[in-house]
Amino acid sequence: MNETGTNPYAITLIPGDGVGPEITEAVTRVIAAAGVKVEWDEQSAGQDVYFAEQTPLPRRVLDSIRKHKTALKGPVTTPVGTGFRSVNVALRQELDLYACVRPCKYYPGARAVHTNVDLVIVRENTEDLYAGIEFKKGDRKTLEVIDYINARTGYSIRSDSGISIKPISVFGSERIVRFAFEYARASGRRKVTAVHKANIMKHSDGLFLDVARDVAKNYTDIEFEDKIIDNMCMQLVQKPELYDVLVLPNLYGDIVSDLAAGLIGGLGLAPGANIGDKYAVFEATHGSAPKYKGLNKVNPMAMMLSSVMMLNHLGEREAAARLDAAIAGIVAEGKHVTYDMKPSADDPTAVGTSEVADEIVRRLG
Ligand code: NAD
Repeated sequence: MNETGTNPYAITLIPGDGVGPEITEAVTRVIAAAGVKVEWDEQSAGQDVYFAEQTPLPRRVLDSIRKHKTALKGPVTTPVGTGFRSVNVALRQELDLYACVRPCKYYPGARAVHTNVDLVIVRENTEDLYAGIEFKKGDRKTLEVIDYINARTGYSIRSDSGISIKPISVFGSERIVRFAFEYARASGRRKVTAVHKANIMKHSDGLFLDVARDVAKNYTDIEFEDKIIDNMCMQLVQKPELYDVLVLPNLYGDIVSDLAAGLIGGLGLAPGANIGDKYAVFEATHGSAPKYKGLNKVNPMAMMLSSVMMLNHLGEREAAARLDAAIAGIVAEGKHVTYDMKPSADDPTAVGTSEVADEIVRRLG
């Protein structure tokens, strides 16, 4: 019986592509070992599906998530420059998963740049340059947009330009900043920092900052400050202990997530969740690492820690804590860990993806 009494959970499982299937297999095993029963509704998506079904994100995948409300997702490859648009972006937009939550916490034993890091990145997931409003160089529409802008602003955009639009709304900013404060309050955190480039982009980032300042007035129990993105990057590298919850528009959130992951020992330890008012999709920060596909090599811990977030979301707090402790124990011991957690990448004592899962299953035993 699951702790909440609703046994078993029905959850969508998207193995993804690249290293996705290997790490999702490892994760489903440790969830079972933690004593949580799940009926996985497995749904393929991504590159291979694109060739078979002419779309990388078939409707059946969205229907499954809408039905079960919760999904665990492996990474999905997005072709660079050409081909289909990102499945990840489409999923977040279709299901209005507007908050991407990415904790970056130091686990003793990890090969981290800093040991005093315990950050949560709250990234807006639906707007900004990731909204997908793009104009291809040379298209008729693009030339019309260029003519319009040139006529209206007095600027002179070159006719051989491509254009990406950066929409940031009051609605989108308000709900993500509110989410960050609610998250901070619920998890006993002390400070929210809004990150932006409002000095340059006054009508998009400037709007985000104005809204953040307004929302902050409703949360006097939590400290609020703002930082310009470039300064924030430098500060995070030098003094990450000064920061707690960061709230950022989409693009900065994506980049700073990887920076913060680097601080605590790499992408192998960086989990995440995409959360909306109705649905939640849990996935690691890292991508599909195609060069390691099928090699049983990469670290499954980021995905396992994403599943810890999922278990907490489901109310399975005890199982989540036990799984988190088992992962922490393995990191601290440094024996049953993958190449990325060893002093050198070709360390012969590094274990594979499935051996990390074996050890966690043994410890949860
Ligand atoms: P990536 O995160 O896949 O890999 C970058 C490098 O980080 C790898 O080469 C590897 O050295 C290391 N790495 C990543 N995950 C690791 C793990 N679990 N254990 C150990 N080392 C790990 O980034 P990329 O190469 O820029 O992207 C590959 C593909 O993934 C692209 O198509 C990209 O669009 C996609 N992507 C998907 C998601 C997602 O599905 N949410 C997120 C990011 C990138």
